[in-house]
Amino acid sequence: MKAFLFVALLATSFSTSAQEEHDHVRRVLRDFDEITKPKLDCVSPAPLKPLDEESKKIADKKWFGGAKDCSKKENRTPPYEVLQVNDGYYIMRQNKCINFEAPFIYLYVGDTGALLIDTGATESADQMPLRAWVDEVLKSRPNGDKLKLTVAHSHSHGDHMAGDEQFADRPNTTVVGYSPAEVAKAFNIKDWPNGEGTIDLGNRKMSILPIPGHEASSIAVYDHKSGDMVTGDTLYPGNIFLSDSNYPTFKKSITRMWDFSQKHPVRNYLGAHVEMSAEPGVDYEYGSTYQPNEHKLPLRQEHLDEVKNYVDANPRPARKVFADLIIAL
Ligand SMILES: [Zn+2]
Ligand SMILES: [Zn+2]
Repeated sequence: MKAFLFVALLATSFSTSAQEEHDHVRRVLRDFDEITKPKLDCVSPAPLKPLDEESKKIADKKWFGGAKDCSKKENRTPPYEVLQVNDGYYIMRQNKCINFEAPFIYLYVGDTGALLIDTGATESADQMPLRAWVDEVLKSRPNGDKLKLTVAHSHSHGDHMAGDEQFADRPNTTVVGYSPAEVAKAFNIKDWPNGEGTIDLGNRKMSILPIPGHEASSIAVYDHKSGDMVTGDTLYPGNIFLSDSNYPTFKKSITRMWDFSQKHPVRNYLGAHVEMSAEPGVDYEYGSTYQPNEHKLPLRQEHLDEVKNYVDANPRPARKVFADLIIAL
């Protein structure tokens, strides 16, 4: 029945743009789920809001999706791509041909400091000149040499901190450690994981939210200026891996993020990878270096609502395929 609905929908919506069609299909699949699943007493999905200009820019960005043959040198360059969202807010992605994880890296810059979230999956500065790029961005800013750089991690898995060494000897720079205690200390979080931390970059305040589960030191980073939240591997268009052992902690973290979102409107949830295709519910194979028809990077409030409903309804983790992300075991 779902398949029938899906085909009928595609047939009637071929004249709209691919993105509109995707959103439309997703909306109907969601509504269909709402009708057929047991009623949840948590939250009803929020209506899809129109995108502001910056969000449109992030959603419309077609990132380099790798290549069929990554052994060819031309497919390994450029090593990364950058989207400048606004003044002092940059999103970078590694080339899939250099590392299939192709993580997204975020850089926020204020009047007195800068915050780099993640250093990617590649150690070598020759293959992935992350430090050189950060230096270039900061030098282009007024008082660039005086800006204090904090290098933090969405969490301490290898594909998010491999480039740390590049910053080891950088002046005026702090590289945050990998344990929850080190992260709590760096952001002055008194009560990990229930408390919140902040870092003021000068006219750009960031909130740091502990979200252990995917990994013990996972954090979400909220930019008060844009309203965007960086969510690492905890919420992203891909496979959110859960196990019996991490599930109770993950549930609490999702609730913590959701509670935060009720106090501070979140414009976009920005994860560290894209593994879904643009086709609802369909992901790319693990390890893929070629993703020609990727899902867009940002998720929105309805996705967090969806995962919040899921954790509220499921006492134990169970596989569930949503249109834009997969709860995987
Ligand atoms: Zn991870
Ligand atoms: Zn990752």
